[in-house]
Amino acid sequence: MRKRYLWIGILGLIILFVLIGGQEAFAQPPKPKACIIDIDGTIANDQQRRAVSINPDGNRNWRKYFNPELVKKDKPILKSREVLRWVEQKGIKIFYVSSRETTVLGATKWWLKAHNFPQGEVYHRKPFARSMEYKIDTVRAIQKSYDVIFGVGDRDRDITAYQTCGIAAIKVAESSEKDWIRVKNEIAKLIR
Ligand SMILES: [Mg+2]
Repeated sequence: MRKRYLWIGILGLIILFVLIGGQEAFAQPPKPKACIIDIDGTIANDQQRRAVSINPDGNRNWRKYFNPELVKKDKPILKSREVLRWVEQKGIKIFYVSSRETTVLGATKWWLKAHNFPQGEVYHRKPFARSMEYKIDTVRAIQKSYDVIFGVGDRDRDITAYQTCGIAAIKVAESSEKDWIRVKNEIAKLIR
């Protein structure tokens, strides 16, 4: 009788170990951490390009605004670069997700490299795609492989897009060096 209980006990232990071991074998490794960074008005000062791409009737000339040669001339927001280097050091991958059209992708990559911004994947919007929907779709696609912690942008539509995807949304004042000090503090709270 006692022997039977012993065998039941051993069998129970074996089942328990198999279950625990099995769970570990099937557990997904944690996704690498990432963040989403807007470009125009966030890390690139596009004020000059905005000013020269206004038609006499007050409407924007988008051809001119998305002129690759003008894009290359944007001034970098240096404080943003400093903060992004710090973010990179924290092991967070950077995704530059911008509503710039895909026609300027080469100019953007050139600009990021020329100004020593940390490496990251660059996403641009296909012509005629709507800005906010494009951002939401792009962030969601990135979330399949990354734990996206936060996004930084200078427009309300950036914030809405980030919030829709369930990531922390940090709004930075347009083309501002100084506001990036506050942004860094916000990021620090999220990643500690
Ligand atoms: Mg922007």
